[in-house]
Amino acid sequence: MERFILALDQGTTSSRAILFDRNAKICGIAQREFTQYYPESGWVEHHAEEIWSSQIEVAREVLRVNGVSPNAIEAIGITNQRETTVVWDRQTGHPIHPAIVWQDRRTASICDQIKASGHADFIRERTGLVVDAYFSGTKIRWILDHVAGARQRAESGELLFGTVDSWLIWNLTGGSVHATDASNASRTMLFDLHTGAWSEKLCQILDIPMAMLPEIKDSSGSFGYTIPSLFDGTSILIGGVAGDQQAALFGQGCLHPGQAKNTYGTGCFLLMQTGSSLVHSHSGLITTVAWKIDGKLSYALEGSVFVAGAAIQWLRDGLGLLEQASDSEELAGEVDHSAGVYVVPAFTGLGAPYWDMYARGAIFGLTRGTTKHHLIRATLESLAFQSRDVLDAMSEDAGQPLVELRVDGGAAANNVLMQFQSDVLGIPVQRPIVLESTALGAAYLAGLASGFYKWDVIERTSTIEKSFTPNMTEKERQDCYQGWKEAVRRTGGWLRSDQPTSI
Ligand code: ADP
Repeated sequence: MERFILALDQGTTSSRAILFDRNAKICGIAQREFTQYYPESGWVEHHAEEIWSSQIEVAREVLRVNGVSPNAIEAIGITNQRETTVVWDRQTGHPIHPAIVWQDRRTASICDQIKASGHADFIRERTGLVVDAYFSGTKIRWILDHVAGARQRAESGELLFGTVDSWLIWNLTGGSVHATDASNASRTMLFDLHTGAWSEKLCQILDIPMAMLPEIKDSSGSFGYTIPSLFDGTSILIGGVAGDQQAALFGQGCLHPGQAKNTYGTGCFLLMQTGSSLVHSHSGLITTVAWKIDGKLSYALEGSVFVAGAAIQWLRDGLGLLEQASDSEELAGEVDHSAGVYVVPAFTGLGAPYWDMYARGAIFGLTRGTTKHHLIRATLESLAFQSRDVLDAMSEDAGQPLVELRVDGGAAANNVLMQFQSDVLGIPVQRPIVLESTALGAAYLAGLASGFYKWDVIERTSTIEKSFTPNMTEKERQDCYQGWKEAVRRTGGWLRSDQPTSI
C-alpha cells in the first residue's frame, strides 16, 4: 500500500490538510476558511474550537476525497500561524477565552510597562525578540488579568497555555499530550534561546505561572498518537511540528547556515538559517529558533517587509492599473527598466532596517515620458529592493554573505520580479517546484521522525523549477540600489514634517 505524510497547515485565515507521497509530491489538498473576529479596534480573535473543527474536518476530507485510508498515513506534521494564544481548561478541554491572534495589538500598553520597568534589554538578549504585542507572552498575561479567577486557576495547574500547534496536539491526542516544539516556543517571549528552555525570570517579568506552559520538544520526533476515534480507529504518529515561517525554511531545504528564503505574500517574510550560532541583530531583526532536531537547536534571523504583494493589490484596487495581480508581469515586461522611477510603498511606515513609523509612500523620478508600465515595474521592483534591505542587514548581522535566495509565496510566480530580485542582489534566486514550502516543511519534519524521509531525500527533493541568475553589471546594480536608498531617505519622517496628514 502506498504511504503518505499528512501535513496540517493551520494558517491565519484557513486550515489546510495536504498529502505528500514518498517523493514529497502533493497528492491532495483540502482547505477551509474560518471566521475572524474583530471585537474592538486593534483586536483580532479566533475561536479555538473553530480552529480545531476546521482542521480536523480538512484532515478527514483530504483522505476521503483522495481515497486514502488512515492506515496509509505514516505520520502527521503540523505547521501553524505563530504566536496566536490559546488558554484552556485542563479538565474540560474548553478554552476560557477566544484565541488572541498574532495581529492583535491590545497588549501594547503591557509592552510599554515592561519597557518602562527596564526589562527590554534583558528580554532581547534572552529571547532574541523585541518587546512587542505580536508575541504570545503579553497575550497570556492579558487573559489571566481579564478572565475572572484565571490567574489563581493557572497557578494551581488547572489552566493550560498553548500556541496553535499545542492546541491541535492536545485535541489530536484526546487531551493526553501538552507539548510544543522549540520553534513555536521561541515566539512566546518566555523561551530562553540560550538554554532552550522556559525561563523562570521571563515568566516572573510577565507574571505567568510556569505550570501552564507546555513541554518543549524537538521539532522532529514523537508528539504522541492521535486517538482512534478521530481517524476510523487508527492511531497516527504526530511526528513533526514547526511554526509556519520556520517550516517554510525547512521545506525550502535551507538546511545549512547562510541559506535563506523569502516568502512573497501580502508582506514578505525572510529567514536566514544561522545554524548553531545564535546571532543578535544590530538592525532590529529578530532572532528565532529555526528548529530543534536530534536535541540540537538551529537558529535563524528573521525580518519582514510590511507591504509587498499589498503594493500590487494597490496597483489593482487603488489605481486600477491591473485587472489582476498576475497582469503585472506582462505589463511591466513591456519596458526594459523603470526609467528612473522609484515607488516607495511605505503605506504604513517602514520596517527593518529603517524602523520609521512616520514614513509614508512616495513616487520619485516622474517625467513626461513615464507610463503605467514604468509605474508597475517600479512597484514590482520595490518588493525586490525592500527584500534586499532586509537581506543586507541579515548578512551583516550574520557576518556571512548570502549565496542564493529561495523563494515562494504568491508573488514569487512573477518572473519579472524574480529576475529583478536576482539582479539587485547579484546572486541566484531559486524557485522550487513545490510552492507549498510551509506544508512541505512540516511533512519533512514528520517524515524524518518516522524514517519515511531521509536527509538526502530532503536535499534532493527541494527541486528547483526555475533559477534566475543576475543579468546586471555591478555598476548598474549599485546605481539602481543607490537610487532606491535615496528615495527611501526622502520618504523618512514625512508625517513629522509639518505636512497635513489629510486634506
Ligand atoms: P498571503 O498568504 O499573504 O495571502 P499569497 O502568498 O497568497 O499571500 O500571495 C498573494 C499576494 O501576492 C497578493 O498581495 C498579490 O497581490 C500578490 N501576487 C499574486 N500573484 C502575483 C503575481 N503574479 N505578480 C505579482 N504579485 C502577485
